[in-house]
Amino acid sequence: MPRYEDFYRHSIEQPEAFWADQAKLIDWHEPWTEVLDTTRSPFTRWFSGGRTNLCHNAVDRHLAERAAQPALIYISTETGIERTYTYAELHAEVVRMAAIMQGLGVQRGDRVLIYMPMIAEAAFAMLACTRIGAIHSVVFGGFASVSLASRIDDAAPKLIVSADAGSRGGKVVAYKPLLDEALQRAAHQPEHVLLVDRGLAPMAHVPGRDVDYAGARVQVANADVPCVWLESNEPSYILYTSGTTGKPKGVQRDTGGYAVALAASMRLIFGGQPGDTMFTTSDIGWVVGHSYIIYGPLLAGMATVMYEGTPLRPDAAVWWRIVEQYKVNQMFSAPTAIRVLKKQDPALLKRHDLSSLRTLFLAGEPLDEPTGRWIHEAIGKPVVDNYWQTETGWPMLALARGVEDLPGKFGSPGLPVYGFKLDVLDELTGEPCAVGQKGVLTLAAPLPPGCMSTIWNNDARFVDTYWSAFPGRQLYSSFDWGMRDEDGYVYILGRTDDVINVAGHRLGTREIEESLSSHAAVAEVAVVGVEDKIKGQAAIAFAIVRDAARVATTEGRLALEGELMKTVEGQLGAVARPARIYFVNALPKTRSGKLLRRAMQAVAEGRDPGDLTTIEDPTALDQVRGALSGT
Ligand code: ATP
Ligand code: MG
Repeated sequence: MPRYEDFYRHSIEQPEAFWADQAKLIDWHEPWTEVLDTTRSPFTRWFSGGRTNLCHNAVDRHLAERAAQPALIYISTETGIERTYTYAELHAEVVRMAAIMQGLGVQRGDRVLIYMPMIAEAAFAMLACTRIGAIHSVVFGGFASVSLASRIDDAAPKLIVSADAGSRGGKVVAYKPLLDEALQRAAHQPEHVLLVDRGLAPMAHVPGRDVDYAGARVQVANADVPCVWLESNEPSYILYTSGTTGKPKGVQRDTGGYAVALAASMRLIFGGQPGDTMFTTSDIGWVVGHSYIIYGPLLAGMATVMYEGTPLRPDAAVWWRIVEQYKVNQMFSAPTAIRVLKKQDPALLKRHDLSSLRTLFLAGEPLDEPTGRWIHEAIGKPVVDNYWQTETGWPMLALARGVEDLPGKFGSPGLPVYGFKLDVLDELTGEPCAVGQKGVLTLAAPLPPGCMSTIWNNDARFVDTYWSAFPGRQLYSSFDWGMRDEDGYVYILGRTDDVINVAGHRLGTREIEESLSSHAAVAEVAVVGVEDKIKGQAAIAFAIVRDAARVATTEGRLALEGELMKTVEGQLGAVARPARIYFVNALPKTRSGKLLRRAMQAVAEGRDPGDLTTIEDPTALDQVRGALSGT
């Protein structure tokens, strides 16, 4: 294994040599003429002139050696369906799906919007798109018509692939009516809608527009659809950010750079090898799903588990049952899911043989120390926190499993990953921050392969949004606060718009949350700043307690509120002590599991909470309202 220092430095000082080397991990139909082209920086082109295809690299390429090896392991605890597709079977299904798409007029460069539950056909559809050079835009199946309509209008798809329904926690959610409603709202109309009928909900077809997948599939049973060789910088897909801080941005990804970056990350970050099995508990509607349910594992010749269901059904051991049964080697989940499991009986974890599992990766939001420790002790495996964004496509902070085996530190996702010129800069001066000083986490151009190429249809917004925090310098702002320690480990201290200013002191809501969650009674907590006549802003907190009985009475609530305030005071100082701590049963989150602080803040200040199209459970915001008004 290479030493971290040397490996990282080589990637930064000689990016062309470094990435040319990694590019050998994939097949090229034609070699590139230039590894890195920065003439239009911050727009970066990787492997210009090279021709390749994502689907070829994820599927066809493996047929020679692993046709009979599992590729896609589909498990639905919602419908009881479990089915393993070998690489040969996956190939056949993807070719059929591609043939159907071509038959419906889809060509290279056309957009295909995929609005589907976690079913194998969704994976076929993504791979079929990249096979024929169509640009997919997967919209999370949990979104309702307003969110869907805005994405239809932005991506202007020729085809939409959908299904009758999804299912969550045993409850059927009909998709087709939501889609029809979205199409009534949208200005853009697709030529066709391809529909998978799972038999979960009745579904009306619009004649001439809607096409039944099963029927179409039979007609293309023996089709042969070759891969279309794309220039490395042609777009592979559009994916919208989670919308935690505002209107989602349509992140555009290239083809060759993404394939290389993911193939490299599978070995270097995830310590994966061909034949391994990876279980990523995300949804295909998110970047983690794109990169680590679909493309990453398949590019690496691994098997990937695609799971439809919750972590709690039929019981809270279901994920560990899957690990045991399918001999999962790498697992990738999110802190929010671990916090859900933490509330369950720990004995459930011990019921299954987890010996195949090498590492648990967690990303998506800060991994608080108690949760990190708990899961590490519960499963007895390394837990690797990794930090990245929809924009970057793959981790920019992690302790890469295939580089040097460095010790983890709770609360930090680790060190800058090879390829990322990551720095923590003083917000005002733009100078690098000293050890322990908080600043903006930035990336210097060029961004490595696999990162966003631009915002779909909006180059100007790409430059304005990401590259203008430090005028005159080619620095990408992550909009997250960070801090380095003396060993170079980076800590994420929240989002730059989650800062509150109490009597002239700038405090990160994240730090106060971290302090509150160190109290054993707290399961989960959110802190926001609200207007305060005297101090400018004051911190208020919304907390979920582990044992609801503790806050069942006014007395209990007051006692715990006092204790928690003391905790913050002791750890961060009186200035950080929240003015009020409210107890709730749920916190408003995005569908991807991130706290919607901006919505809580708006409600607390009596303002309109703004864009709520990505909210998971609107009643959670009502709880916040109720807590504030004392009901
Ligand atoms: P939007 O950009 O639309 O507001 P979003 O930022 O939530 O939405 P994503 O790209 O899904 O959309 O999330 C990336 C963000 O998630 C990061 O910028 C960071 O704030 C947070 N995040 C991801 N991983 C971690 C991690 N390991 N530790 C701390 N924060 C993380
Ligand atoms: Mg973001």
